[in-house]
Amino acid sequence: MQIENFALVSLPIMFGLGWLASTWDKRLEDAEDEIDRAKKQKSTFRGLNLLLSEQPDKAIDALVEVAQLDPETVELHFALGSLFRRRGETERAIRVHQHLVNRTDISTRDKDHAAYELGRDFLRAGLLDRAELSLNRVGRGRYSEQAKTALLEMYQIEKDWQKAIISAKELTNSKDQNYPHQIAHFYCEITVEALRRKEIQAAQTAVNKAIEIVPDHIRGIILQGELMMAMQRPQEAIEIWKKIEGHHPAYLPLIADRWMKAYQDCDNAFEGLHMLKKNLDQHAGGELLEQVFKYVIEIEGPEIAEQLMGAVLLHTPSLIAMQKRFEAQYLIAQKAHQEERASDIKASLDLLKQRTNILVKYTCSSCGFRARRFYWQCPGCNHWDVYSPKRNEGFSPSTTPSM
Ligand SMILES: [Zn+2]
Repeated sequence: MQIENFALVSLPIMFGLGWLASTWDKRLEDAEDEIDRAKKQKSTFRGLNLLLSEQPDKAIDALVEVAQLDPETVELHFALGSLFRRRGETERAIRVHQHLVNRTDISTRDKDHAAYELGRDFLRAGLLDRAELSLNRVGRGRYSEQAKTALLEMYQIEKDWQKAIISAKELTNSKDQNYPHQIAHFYCEITVEALRRKEIQAAQTAVNKAIEIVPDHIRGIILQGELMMAMQRPQEAIEIWKKIEGHHPAYLPLIADRWMKAYQDCDNAFEGLHMLKKNLDQHAGGELLEQVFKYVIEIEGPEIAEQLMGAVLLHTPSLIAMQKRFEAQYLIAQKAHQEERASDIKASLDLLKQRTNILVKYTCSSCGFRARRFYWQCPGCNHWDVYSPKRNEGFSPSTTPSM
C-alpha cells in the first residue's frame, strides 16, 4: 500500500521532470540554433561590410566562414566563386564551383549554373579540354546560351573552326544577329588554311560556304580571287576582285599587291595601276597611297610619282602623301646627280619618317586596340569586323588643332 502511494505521488513528479527536461533540451537546441544563426548573420554582414569598404581579402575570409558554417548556402558559393575568379584566384574558384557540381542535393538549374561557371574558370586557367567538358555538361536551361557562347569563344581561341561553326549555328537564333558573319569568317579561316596547304578543293568548298551564308562577304570575295590565283587563273581573279574595286573600294589596299600581281600575270600591269590610281581620288589615305606610289615608281618612274603625290596633297593632305612626295623628289635628285639637293631632301624625309612611323594605323571600334596591320578579328577583344580598312593617318584639315 505504501509502495502504491509512493508510485501515485512519484509518477506525476517523474512526468513533470521529464517534461521539464525535454523543454530544457529544446530550449538548449533553440538557443544553439539562434547562436549559429547569429554567427552566420554576423559573418555575412561583416563580409558585406568589408566588401563595401573595399577590403576584399578580409571579406573573402568572412564569407568563407559563413559557407563553412552552412554548406546549404548555394548562392553564397556562387558569389565566392565569381569573386575568386575576378581576383585571378582561379584555383580557388575552380574548387568552389567543382564542389557545387559534385553535390547531388541541389537543383538542376544550380547544377547547370555551376557547370557553366566551372567551364569559365577552366577557360580562364587555359585548361581548354576541361572547359569544353564542363560547358558541354550544361543542360538546355537558362545557362545553355551562355555556355554555347563560351564554347564558341573557346573554339576560336583553339582555332577549331569546324566546332566554332557548329556552336555559332546553334546560336544563330539568339538575339545577336552577327553570327552568320562570324560563320562566314570561320569558313574563310578554313579557306586560308586550305590554300596554305595547297588543298584547292577544300579551299573552294569552304569559300563557297562563306559566300552562301553572306553573299556579299568582303573577305569571302577576296579569297575567291585568291583561289583563282592559286589555280593560275589571274583573269578570273581580276573579275572577282573588281567587285571589291567597284563596291567596297575602301578594302582595295588589302588586295592591291595581289591585284597588281594578277594584272602583271596577264601582261597588263599598266591597266591594273590605272584602276588603282583612279581610286586615289576617293581613297587617298593609308596603304593604297603607299602601294600606288610603289607601283608608279616601278612602272612609270619618280617624275610621274612626284606629280601624283603633288595632286593628292592638294585634295587629301596627309603626312604620308608629303613623305611620298619627298621620296620621289629624293629619287629625282639622285637620278640627276644633285647630291646637295638630295641630302637636303633626305634630312626632311628622315624627320617625316620618324613621325609617320609612330602614327597609329588601325583602331578597333570595339575595344580601341591599336594595330599596325589590318585584322579581320581584333586580337584585343576577339570581335570580328571591328577594324575599318582606313588607317588613322595623322592630320587632316578637320583634325588639325588650331593654334
Ligand atoms: Zn577589339
